[in-house]
Amino acid sequence: MSNFGTENNPWRIAVIGAGPAGFYAAEHFFKQSDIFANVDIFDRLPTPHGLVRSGVAPDHEKIKNVTRVFDKTASNPRFRFFGNVEFGTHINLADLQKYYHQIYFSTGSLVDRKLGIPGEDLPRSHSATEFVAWYNGHPDFRHLAFDLSQERVAIVGVGNVAVDVARILCKTVDELKFTDISDYALEALSKSNVKEVILMGRRGPSQAAFSLKEIKEMGELADASSITLQEEMTLDEHSAKALEDNPDRTTEKSMEVLKAMIGGSKPGATKTCSIRFLVSPTALHPAEDGGVGSMSVARNKIEASSSGRLSSKMTDETFEWPIGLVFRSVGYRGEALPDIPFREDWGVIRNELGRIVTDSGAPVLGCYAGGWIKRGPSGVIGTNKPDAVESVACMIEDLASGKHFTPTEPDMADLIASRQPAAFSYQDWLELDRIESEKGAALGRPRVKFTSCEEMIAALGK
Ligand code: NAP
Repeated sequence: MSNFGTENNPWRIAVIGAGPAGFYAAEHFFKQSDIFANVDIFDRLPTPHGLVRSGVAPDHEKIKNVTRVFDKTASNPRFRFFGNVEFGTHINLADLQKYYHQIYFSTGSLVDRKLGIPGEDLPRSHSATEFVAWYNGHPDFRHLAFDLSQERVAIVGVGNVAVDVARILCKTVDELKFTDISDYALEALSKSNVKEVILMGRRGPSQAAFSLKEIKEMGELADASSITLQEEMTLDEHSAKALEDNPDRTTEKSMEVLKAMIGGSKPGATKTCSIRFLVSPTALHPAEDGGVGSMSVARNKIEASSSGRLSSKMTDETFEWPIGLVFRSVGYRGEALPDIPFREDWGVIRNELGRIVTDSGAPVLGCYAGGWIKRGPSGVIGTNKPDAVESVACMIEDLASGKHFTPTEPDMADLIASRQPAAFSYQDWLELDRIESEKGAALGRPRVKFTSCEEMIAALGK
């Protein structure tokens, strides 16, 4: 170890991205008993907590309790938050090298994957990512509009994000009004004309990506009936064999839940959510107004590869569905950061166990990755904890062998003040949090969110 990591000459780390991955890394830096670490976390938004604030569904309030753990980490006097400060705009790699020994990138995967079908860019065809960020009050997405006057909506993909979107579209205003959903989204949803939501899985029910808890919730909606089809619930030979060879209680339970929805789970409900399997959109077609009016759909069958992977293959059987609004929910990808090697094919920073590497596999001095931008968009919030442990282990190993930057400048705070006078501290966030919670308490809601940076700046008199 070099001659730092002591109380007076600490290990200096910059974390770019203040979501769960960044906070779990900070927690782990502070856990090191033999190294004193100073951690500065930067985020391009004024508010911390990443997808816990802008991704977790508003009706999943309990999941958001994890922010208490992040608050505890932030209460360490060696922790600082610089919100409203963007890597690539206000600060860059050359700046950071002057102030820190190591840099940890945890910028997540905010961009949606495309379907690559004709008509995908028509009006009323959106990514689920945008819709989620919109109803959660993300400042970059608040200006968007979704045409909820349409009666039939298709959501492509059957992961948890797709189910979140289906549930929000199917819930009544009474089911949503005591959540922290953004006010404008609640207002728009209160006027929604949506009658049928179709969730489209390209493979079969035993391969669906949603979790058991999430699919159970679809059977518990106040005014929407979730429906599956008998013929799509009967497993093909490959899927049946795969389950027989590798019995999985969770999949079996999901199948039970889905089978209980055959023909409809709630007679008399005014909305339906059709959960369909073995179907893929092949094209979107415009209505007279130019927006999505219908969808061409192909029936799929399951094929098994020699490795045992079950994939979908389109058959000649096709359908035309009248559809007025489409959300694609087929996974996220990360965005490249200036001067940081990136794998375009996977949408992640090029890395080995969190150590950032060049195209030829050589380690990039002082640079590490964690969370979705390291491994891709998988797992739940807690998955980022072991992920952070893995990356931090590489950082500590490299410190020990002297592979790190040699900072020459004392404190990044002065540079930030000159580059971004409207930077937010964690104290600022706690004040915003207090105001939001107070507004919410008066209405029986967990909080009423600020949804624009200008409002946040004004609220704090910055
Ligand atoms: P995901 O879990 O990876 O699901 C993606 C879905 O898109 C899968 O059903 C996939 O089908 C399908 N898909 C991919 N390409 C497709 C194509 N070309 N055509 C049709 N379907 C296609 O992704 P996600 O829903 O975005 O979620 C991301 C992560 O966040 C996941 O780990 C998820 O569990 C997590 N998350 C958790 C919660 C929660 O815990 N409540 C909430 C939201 C998100 P195949 O399986 O056939 O590829």
